[in-house]
Amino acid sequence: MRTHFRCESNNDNFIKEVKGSAVVVGASLSGLMTGIALSRAGLDVTILERAGSKPRSGAVLQVDSGEIDRTQTAKFLRKLASGGISSAEAWSSIQLRLRTAAETDPRITLRYDTRVQTIKQDSDSAWAVTDKGEIFHGDILIGADGHRSIVRRLVAPHKPNATFAGYLIWVAIVGEKDIPEKHRPSLNAPKFTMPDGIGDFLLGSIIAGADGSTALGDRRLGWAWYDNTQNDLLRRLGCVEGDVVQYSLHAQDIPEQTLIELAEKASDRWAQPWLDAILHSIQSRNLLGTPIAEYVPDNLVKGRIAIVGDAAHLPTPLTASGFNASLQDASTLAECIEKGIKGSAATEALLEYESLRLKNARQIVQSGQSFSRSFGR
Ligand SMILES: Cc1cc2nc3c(=O)[nH]c(=O)nc-3n(C[C@H](O)[C@H](O)[C@H](O)COP(=O)(O)OP(=O)(O)OC[C@H]3O[C@@H](n4cnc5c(N)ncnc54)[C@H](O)[C@@H]3O)c2cc1C
Repeated sequence: MRTHFRCESNNDNFIKEVKGSAVVVGASLSGLMTGIALSRAGLDVTILERAGSKPRSGAVLQVDSGEIDRTQTAKFLRKLASGGISSAEAWSSIQLRLRTAAETDPRITLRYDTRVQTIKQDSDSAWAVTDKGEIFHGDILIGADGHRSIVRRLVAPHKPNATFAGYLIWVAIVGEKDIPEKHRPSLNAPKFTMPDGIGDFLLGSIIAGADGSTALGDRRLGWAWYDNTQNDLLRRLGCVEGDVVQYSLHAQDIPEQTLIELAEKASDRWAQPWLDAILHSIQSRNLLGTPIAEYVPDNLVKGRIAIVGDAAHLPTPLTASGFNASLQDASTLAECIEKGIKGSAATEALLEYESLRLKNARQIVQSGQSFSRSFGR
């Protein structure tokens, strides 16, 4: 039986026929955008996320690629993610907006604390099995499960892993109020800055406060310090094994001596306001060390299963393109399933998605590789 559905989520009223169902693995930026895009295109969507529902933090991201969005869905997602105004945003602010949209969309079921262990498919459907033995079926299954994707292992068994690029990025976001008034940037200071250090460099950005205020004292300073001297530490702590990044270095696991050395290096390298922002992050242990990995895809699809976001293409953050590429994946996928996904139409739709996205996905990663080859160790 065919059903019709009136969707009133996101103040974006539309009536669409329910065309089928999708399971999305991962509810970070890419998974949420994909879920929202597929719901708009007429699918019932279940998003499965291994993490709990507690808010998480991350880096500052550029949400405005300068590219003209081709589809209504791409425009919609960009407006939603950016809040309609910002060109740079805190990961947590973007995630909160997308998450609120997904949670209020009656066609989306969002499950936290749900770790997918196995992915399977046959000629009729694809499904995910969790570590608790629950099974979630869909006409299609989309892997938005990041740099260590298990869905990628099925889609590209010949090339399952992203490769460590030989450096990490320390990232944090600091409230302007947490640094001395005399060092706070003026209202017309550049929003982005990229000073060279001694063999390494920093990306500093000034973004609105969590409440959206851009008044002096209310803003936040995001910093990302590219550092190629911590590889032994990363291997010793198990963050990198062989060529594969296992996990990020969380503040509580950073050795005291590393923090002392980092503070000394920062004092030698960086000018204000970034020096105070970094020292505050170190003193309050509010920073994350992210080992950088890269992945150039050979394919994005196998049967009823596809990969999007960092699972599909993992460029160095220096390209500032991962978020934008994830948004284009989501909107392209939605466009491709418009004609329906019942029976063999599912595999045809996903192959069309691959043909539209693969070249760009490869290019964005390759564009950052010459930097990684010269900077990484
Ligand atoms: C320091 C840094 C700075 C960046 N700056 C920029 C920038 O300026 N501009 C830009 O465009 N991009 C930037 N990026 C990249 C951007 O953040 C990502 O490309 C984008 O957020 C998409 O990530 P994702 O959702 O695909 O993956 P992730 O954020 O890795 O999400 C994967 C999700 O899947 C979940 N998951 C994994 N395995 C399972 C499982 N088995 N079962 C269930 N759930 C699972 C994880 O818990 C996670 O929530 C930056 C990245 C970093 C690290």
